[in-house]
Amino acid sequence: MQRRVYLDNNATTPVLPEVLEAMQPYFGERFGNASSIHHHGQETRGAVERARESVAALLGCRAPEVVFTSGGTEADNLAVFGLLHSGDHVITSTVEHHAILNACKHLASDHDKDHEMPGCEVTYIPVDGRGLVDPADVKRAIRPNTKLITIMFANNETGVVQPVAEIGEIAAEADIYFHTDAVQAAGKIPVDVNKIGCDLLTISGHKLHGPQGVGALYVRKGTQLKAMFYGGSHERSRRAGTENVPGIVGLGEAAELASAGFDRGDDKGMAAARDLLERELLEIEDAGLNGADLSGKRAPRVPNTTNIYFDGIDGEALVIALDLKGLAVSTGAACSSGAIEPSHVLTAMALRPNRAKASIRFSLGKQNSAEDIEFALATVPETVARLRDLSPVYRTVVAK
Ligand code: PLP
Repeated sequence: MQRRVYLDNNATTPVLPEVLEAMQPYFGERFGNASSIHHHGQETRGAVERARESVAALLGCRAPEVVFTSGGTEADNLAVFGLLHSGDHVITSTVEHHAILNACKHLASDHDKDHEMPGCEVTYIPVDGRGLVDPADVKRAIRPNTKLITIMFANNETGVVQPVAEIGEIAAEADIYFHTDAVQAAGKIPVDVNKIGCDLLTISGHKLHGPQGVGALYVRKGTQLKAMFYGGSHERSRRAGTENVPGIVGLGEAAELASAGFDRGDDKGMAAARDLLERELLEIEDAGLNGADLSGKRAPRVPNTTNIYFDGIDGEALVIALDLKGLAVSTGAACSSGAIEPSHVLTAMALRPNRAKASIRFSLGKQNSAEDIEFALATVPETVARLRDLSPVYRTVVAK
């Protein structure tokens, strides 16, 4: 059987065995609706509330401030649509996930018929060559009607970590709500809502070895949030709909495991494995790191991600060639694969389109071993060389 190594953990992570084990009873004997008042409901209610405590512990908040959702996309949308009213101004960045970018785009349309309100105004803060937002730009963008700043914690394509605590301070000084999409940060680096100074924060189960289709929005006590769905008074009337009990239990267990991982220093081991992979891959001719400036200065990053360009290569062709050899990586966001346009994140970092299209994301997870890194190192250089051999562009243009 062909060996398969998965280094695309920013797209999704495998559910850890402990998570699956914790979830299993809630597909079977513990099936109650968490809103029912009888034994079956009380049993699942208890499980949901324990999971809420675990998520709150991971984020450094109080359990009632955690709202369970169907994932990161819904939590991002709830933050944006829940806070903004007609005529409000929102500040975001050019490198956000589409869950934020498209929500903002929709809000800014001339007349939002679905929500029966005139559009909001949006300012997109640019990033520098390393992919970093300058907090001074955020401060300068504030207007009298600015209601929300939403800037991501860690980028899904590059792993670059934004100066969220500084942005949190600016937001607090100006008395503006601050939301951060921490989908790619939670479980990888410590996330503490009070250190960040955010009012809202998004996480997603399947990016931290929990199940797909469940996430959470941290909502600071006192934040006035409109619900997006009309229905029952679930989640303290902030998110109507019967709770996804097995999913929530899985997210709770994944949060516990992530917290325990930090105590053991798992993040440092992950960084060492990523650094080894990165160092060796950067030895390949005409390869470079996305997330560093021209002098080689690197942006702070989460420990599991590296994004590397291999000039003269078509990224999608490399992904397919590597997949045929058993190595799963990606060119960027899974939801954008098949897109003709180069990555909006890499082009925002001023990469020329050809280089953006020649870029590959490698993202590690807790299941990866030293052998997986060796496999990648045995596979990538020869595949890049073979594709370049086949490429007239590489021979005539890139390699001079
Ligand atoms: N935000 C970021 C930064 C992401 O990487 C993702 C998923 O790729 C999401 C939001 C959306 O999360 P979900 O897949 O749970 O809807």
